[in-house]
Amino acid sequence: MNDLIKKDLLHIWHPCSQMKDYEELKPIVIEKAKGIYLYDVEGKSYADVVSSWWCNLLGHCNDRINSAVKSQIDKLEHVIFANFSNIPTINLSARLAAYVPKGLNKFFFTDNGSSAIEAGMKMSFQYHYQTGNPKKRKFMALTDAYHGETIGALSASGVDLYSKIYNPMLMDIVRVEAPDCYRCKWGNCRNECNVECFENVEKEFKKWGEEISAFIVEPIVQAAAGMRIYPSLYLKKLRDICTQYNVHLIADEIATGFGRTGKMFACEHAGISPDIMCISKGLTGGYMPMAIAITTDEIYNAFYADYNEGKAFMHSHTYCGNPLAASAALEVLNILEDDDIINKSLENSIYFNKIINEYLSDLNYVGEIRSIGLINAIELVKDKENKTGFDSNLRIGYEIYKEALKRGVLLRPLGNVMYFNPPLTITKDEMESVVSKSIDSIKTILE
Ligand SMILES: *Cc1c(COP(=O)(O)O)cnc(C)c1O
Repeated sequence: MNDLIKKDLLHIWHPCSQMKDYEELKPIVIEKAKGIYLYDVEGKSYADVVSSWWCNLLGHCNDRINSAVKSQIDKLEHVIFANFSNIPTINLSARLAAYVPKGLNKFFFTDNGSSAIEAGMKMSFQYHYQTGNPKKRKFMALTDAYHGETIGALSASGVDLYSKIYNPMLMDIVRVEAPDCYRCKWGNCRNECNVECFENVEKEFKKWGEEISAFIVEPIVQAAAGMRIYPSLYLKKLRDICTQYNVHLIADEIATGFGRTGKMFACEHAGISPDIMCISKGLTGGYMPMAIAITTDEIYNAFYADYNEGKAFMHSHTYCGNPLAASAALEVLNILEDDDIINKSLENSIYFNKIINEYLSDLNYVGEIRSIGLINAIELVKDKENKTGFDSNLRIGYEIYKEALKRGVLLRPLGNVMYFNPPLTITKDEMESVVSKSIDSIKTILE
């Protein structure tokens, strides 16, 4: 066994992994990368079609982002962010202010997605406390939501795989049954309905509305749930009912932001503005950990008072507003603008979706192919007619993952949902190659 792998197994506890699985499937040690490709220490390449957990936006080792970070690192690597500031982070905030949904204007920096969600939740709670609504203490979220894995964010999350065992540690959340367009209980088709399922939201608001501080939601795509896509009308209605009950809408755009759904932010599909929007992942192009909870002047102003009134937002992370991450993020914005990346990726996404449908839709274990932007998800089922899934003990997704690795493709299915969420810069040739290798992998396991 390679010496690096030996040391890895001796010392490293990898995330989201049953380490016993590594006895059979050893850690793959990546030495370098370019574009969509990762190269391991043996020189084998892997097409990173999951953008390394959805964060790599413009390909690995992008020349422009590399230079931006290199030039920043010789000026300033980091500085305390309380009372001190730095040039890249100031410029980043001013630039982003022009992109985010209308009304969002104040940028609170953290260093990972979960912590931005935590900051958003605390901000919302404290706003209500300081504006005469101290009984607004609860949070609402959808079933199968994913908002991160620190205690507050995990409480808001509703994926049993990540949260079930910790339930005794978690906050009480008012849980609303999420829209599930593939298995719609009203027998409707996605985007051809009046979101009858929204009655689930109305019911819970009637019961709890007065006690709710914020509704946390992944706009348009519930990503970790298996790239579940729901109609923009649902989000529009959610915005309205939150306003009606003086409940904040926290949009978790950590996975969907920066063009993943074909628009800069998924909220744009519904033409809505949340009260708090959390972004991370694509923000730095996947280079460095940075996240932001962005909010309105109205929320910000509820904290603005003489010091001794004790209204300040006493929340901080050591690496808030890190200038290296901000320099990467600024260059991401430059590239998105200069190369018209989002519009081009949207054109390419039509082709990507077409070939996936051509090759896959007739296979009798492909239940649904759903797509938005370059995100394409393929839900594999045992019985297409009744939409019954495979037994999770069979670990179909994991078996396909291993098969695809042999062929040099990094897929990381979510249960029985296989998906592509590649860098926005993926080319048509690369699309063809990864789709054909993925299909071979699926067929090897399921036929
Ligand atoms: C990844 C993700 C998070 C958590 O971000 P981390 O940086 O992993 O803490 C939260 N919400 C959504 C929608 C995500 O995809």
